[in-house]
Amino acid sequence: MDRVIRGIAEEGTIRVMAAITTEMLAEAIGRHRTAPTASAAFGRVLTGTVLLASTLKDFDRLTVKVECDGPIGGITAEAKPDGKVRGYVKNPLADLPLKNNGKFDVSGVVGKGTLYVIREEGFDVGLYREPYYGSVPLISGEIAEDFAYYLAKSEQIPSAVLLGVLLQREEPYVRACGGLMIQVMPGADEKVVQKIEETIKKAPQLTTFIDQGASVEDIIKMGLGDISFQILQETTVKFDCGCSMQRAISMVSALDKKEIESMLREDKGAKITCGFCNETYELGEETLLEILKNLD
Ligand code: ZN
Repeated sequence: MDRVIRGIAEEGTIRVMAAITTEMLAEAIGRHRTAPTASAAFGRVLTGTVLLASTLKDFDRLTVKVECDGPIGGITAEAKPDGKVRGYVKNPLADLPLKNNGKFDVSGVVGKGTLYVIREEGFDVGLYREPYYGSVPLISGEIAEDFAYYLAKSEQIPSAVLLGVLLQREEPYVRACGGLMIQVMPGADEKVVQKIEETIKKAPQLTTFIDQGASVEDIIKMGLGDISFQILQETTVKFDCGCSMQRAISMVSALDKKEIESMLREDKGAKITCGFCNETYELGEETLLEILKNLD
């Protein structure tokens, strides 16, 4: 089962988040039918969002948007503190040949652009406050480096970020997906930071490590070496949109009456496809008549 863990080390001066998101990505690409390079970019953004969202408070929501000029056109991911994540890419079929080192050309499919992070507090209970916006230009397009740059530049938190996706030709197409984020908070010992940097340099390939059966705790150990840590929170991760037939009906109910009447006349119903999860809801003639009746 996919999980994200948040922990601390060195009396809280080091924060660490790690996740395995293999099944989550399989669900995401099964729904959006993304091509391999698009899937790799999508998986990295979804996982980075899950890691950032692990520090959210109840009822908050975190959105990461990559607006870019490469073939993928844009990536959006949204996560809540309960581990539910959803998202989409603009052009699911965006694909490029593998790079010479055998890796996905994620920066090629992303191109140049901007990474946006939006934090909304109290979202789920209607306690609406002005959202927090942060943004940085994409410095590499490989996503992990871009998350690290965002944290350093926009939140003043120097960080190491690893995000990886390993695909296979057969269903469910994802062999391994996961990530690690180590954040250096004010007051951290410079020697400890150096030690972590050296440990990460020598670390094995993240996705190979997950593929070989590593747990989320093992990923943290891979990043921290022999520095001991304390787990503060552990959450199950799931691609879960939260849309429903009821929401589709509310959406149609909010339309202009004339529009609903024309749906009824021309199509004898309505098809609503959710952009976040690609689920299609079919509203029949009777449902539309019911909506019209309630509008009167
Ligand atoms: Zn949906």
